[in-house]
Amino acid sequence: DEVCHGVGDRSEEESADEMTIFKKIIDKEIPADIVYEDDQCLAFRDVNPQAPVHVLVIPKREIRSLADVVETDRELLGHLLVVASRIAAKLHLHDGYRTVINCGAHGGQTVHHLHIHLLGGRNLDWPPG
Ligand code: 5GP
Repeated sequence: DEVCHGVGDRSEEESADEMTIFKKIIDKEIPADIVYEDDQCLAFRDVNPQAPVHVLVIPKREIRSLADVVETDRELLGHLLVVASRIAAKLHLHDGYRTVINCGAHGGQTVHHLHIHLLGGRNLDWPPG
């Protein structure tokens, strides 16, 4: 059931073959404020927070974007959302929060390693820009 074709998301910031900054965070080559980790995923605070709570939940396995997921990623993707929900509770986002996955150039994706943004701690505007 292919529904997404040809999302060519090459930004100036990262070329296709380069190791992403998130891979370096997973490998502990560069520091991050980690809020959760298990064998499949890692969650850490965004370096440029857009809300009082801004956490990124990422799979440890390198998946470039939501456009690249396949059927066998189903369990991992579900796990990322369950983790995001638990982190939101742990960080006391009782008034609600937002999860966002930017995909490709039009989606505003700048790091080519799939990530879920978890944003909360203030009233968020909708729709996005
Ligand atoms: P995107 O625009 O691809 O959806 O989101 C990428 C996010 O990664 C941005 O919100 C950006 O601030 C964050 N980011 C980029 N580089 C780093 C980094 O080195 N450390 C952390 N913690 N976040 C980063």
